[in-house]
Formats: sequence, C-alpha cells, structure tokens
Amino acid sequence: MIVEDVICPFCGCLCDDIRVEVEDNKITKVNRACRLGASKIRGHERIKAPMVREDGELVETSYEEAYQRAAQILYQAKRPLLYGWCSTVCEAHKKGILLAEEVGGVIDSTATVCHGPSIIGIEEKGLAGATLGQVKNRADLIVFWGSNPAEAHPRHSLRYSTNVRGKFTEGGRSEKKMIVVDVRKTRSSRNADKFLRIRPGTDYEVISALRMIVGGNGDLLPERVAGISKDDLVDMAEMMKAARFGAFFFGLGLTHSRGSYKNIDNSLSLVNELNSHTKFMIMPMRGHYNVGGFGQVCAWETGYPMAVDFSRGIPYFNPGETAACDVLANGEADAALVVAADPASNFPWSVVEKLAEIPVVQIDPFENPTTLISDVVIPSAVAGVEVEGTAYRMDGLPLRMKKLVTSSYPSDEEVLDGIIKEVRRLGDDN
Ligand code: SF4
Repeated sequence: MIVEDVICPFCGCLCDDIRVEVEDNKITKVNRACRLGASKIRGHERIKAPMVREDGELVETSYEEAYQRAAQILYQAKRPLLYGWCSTVCEAHKKGILLAEEVGGVIDSTATVCHGPSIIGIEEKGLAGATLGQVKNRADLIVFWGSNPAEAHPRHSLRYSTNVRGKFTEGGRSEKKMIVVDVRKTRSSRNADKFLRIRPGTDYEVISALRMIVGGNGDLLPERVAGISKDDLVDMAEMMKAARFGAFFFGLGLTHSRGSYKNIDNSLSLVNELNSHTKFMIMPMRGHYNVGGFGQVCAWETGYPMAVDFSRGIPYFNPGETAACDVLANGEADAALVVAADPASNFPWSVVEKLAEIPVVQIDPFENPTTLISDVVIPSAVAGVEVEGTAYRMDGLPLRMKKLVTSSYPSDEEVLDGIIKEVRRLGDDN
C-alpha cells in the first residue's frame, strides 16, 4: 500500500508531502522526507512493555499495574510536574492538562527550554506573522538569525523559504536573497548571500543598531557595533528595506543568547519598523513537531501557553516561578510525569540531579536517558505513524496526522485516560 501526503512527525516544518510504502503492516519505504524525518517514520528500538522499578531495577508489568503506580505517584505528590508534550498530538495535550488539574500539578512543555522566551516576547509585543505558504509564494528576502535550518529543519529551504519557487518568486533561489546572522559558520551560512558573524551575546546590540539604521538614525552609530562594521549593518538594513516581502526566522541562538526574551522583543520591533518600508514577517523556528500545538491547547484550556500551575486550584502562570526548571531547581516538584520528551538530556545538569531524586513516570514510545531515572515507564504508540491526531506547524497551521500502521501499543491519549481513571478512583477511595 502506498500512502501519499503523509505528515512528518519530527520537526516544526510538518512536511505534508511524504510518501510511505506499507507492506504487511510494516513501513518499508519512506520517500521525500529528510533523514531526520525518515528515521522517525521508519522507527527504531521500542520500549517493549510497561515497567516499574523494584529494588532499583525496572521490571516488566501490565499496563493496568503501571497506570495504578503512576496514579499513586501523582496523587500522593503535593506539587507534581507534568512535562514534555511537544512530540505528541493535541488530543494527548488535552488529557495532560485535565490530569494536571486533577492532581493540582504544574504542567509545562519543552518550549520552556527552547522558544519559551519567544512566547513571552510575542505576548509583550505582538507578532507580524504570516503562513509558510505566504513565505514560499512571496518572500524574496529571508533572514535566519541564530538558526541553522540546513541541519535542524532540513527541508525548510526546499519547501518554504530560500530554495523553493513561489507564485511571485518563479525564479526560486536566483530571485531570493538570504541573510544569516550567527556566532559561527554553519551549513546554512555557507549558502547565504550575506553572513554576519556576531560575537556571542551581542544580538540585542546588533538588532538595536539595525533598528537605528531602519529608523533613519544610522549616523549616530559608531563605526563598529559588537564587532560588526557599520557598513555591513547598513548593507543588511538596506537589503531588508529593499525586499518586496521579507521573512525573519529566528532560532535558539537568539532566544538563548544574553537578553533572552528581550532579544525577541527587539526583533519584533525591528520587523514592525520594517513594515513602515515594506512587508515583513517574523517567525520562530519551532523544533519539536507539535510544540506549537501544546501552546495552542494550553492557551485555550487555561489561558496560558505553558508553565501553568494548578496547585492553587486555578491556573497560575509565572515563568521564573512555575516553569519546569524552576519547580525542579527550587525542590518544589515532588514527582514528575514526562510525556514524549527527554529532560535528562536537555535540562541543566543540576536540574536533572533534582529530577533523579523524585519519583518519575515516563510515557514514550522510545527509550531515552530519562528512562534510566524513571520509576514507571509506559510505552505508547508513535503519534503520526501508529495513531492519528492534530499537530500545529511552526506557523500555527493545524494539520491532521495520519495513522499509517496498526500498533498494539495504546496511544498517549489512552495511557493518560488510564491514569486519570486511577487518580479519580484514588480520590473516591479517600
Ligand atoms: S524538515 Fe522536518 S518535518 Fe520535514 S521531513 Fe525533515 S524532519 Fe520531517
């Protein structure tokens, strides 16, 4: 069987043109996906069965027993953390938020260690946005700031940005200009028409200098800003002003540079000011395929896009106090549920040590370093391959992911339903 127009469940590009061949309920061929996406769709070593930790060792058990143990851990905790969510579908997010409310926990997504600062910057300033379809068809200047799509989002350039022919950019790459701003040379910078190599931690200064030039105050600038010559900055500002339609994509190199969300705030202002001269949009390069989806579901369910604390009985949001790393680093979280994520690999080491001290429940199709510190491990089906569901592309477009093969594993949604049922039973018993 050949399945066309499959959506890739790996990165925020959510490429929807993948062709998959299935034989005897097995995926035999994946066409058009990049190597990252193909590897996710083909799958790799799975967690075979639910496991619970007994005398320091993980031993296999039934799903029912795993649900009960997970429910006990979350029910007994005073402030459990429910973390992850960005590599699963929106239907699971909804259940996760319900569970967080039931147990009075803190729910946060992987955005907390990636584009969380972008969300806060956007809340403050607003966003001059567009869809990736508009970028494809109209953009003749593309800026990548602190982002290396050639390696992190390999088909972004081919489907949406620099190397694709659009309705109003029929010449493709030859009609488009590409600017890369980064602290080091990357595979993306090699293809750029202009590359600004800035000193680490100076993004805010460089963006401010560009704003001055765009605003007509460039004569007040010194000859060099953060190691970049004024001529180079003027050249970049002129390229941006001269575009018919400009697109500014930014990555973790900007959100995690000194200044954090203020860098995003400043970039949003730069793009707003460019809109006095031409049409310009700005978009974060979202990493996990459904990090945007969690923000959407969480915002419509609770009013906030991440780091929501239900311990007061109502949703409370204060990143710096209620984000995953905050409640772990401060020793406030006394249990954790990790869904479709790997905090043991991505959190600061001091925070991972705190996580290892508390009971951890993991729901994931695949083993990862977080499995090693988990007390209950519940394998689930791969969303977008073995179960269908909704995911949001990096531009906020919701797409329906297909089921390609049938699996004996329950979906994340079903696992969460099983735990919620047990939590409610414990509540009734007490
Ligand atoms: S660019 Fe991203 S969404 Fe597209 S195929 Fe590669 S990993 Fe999948």
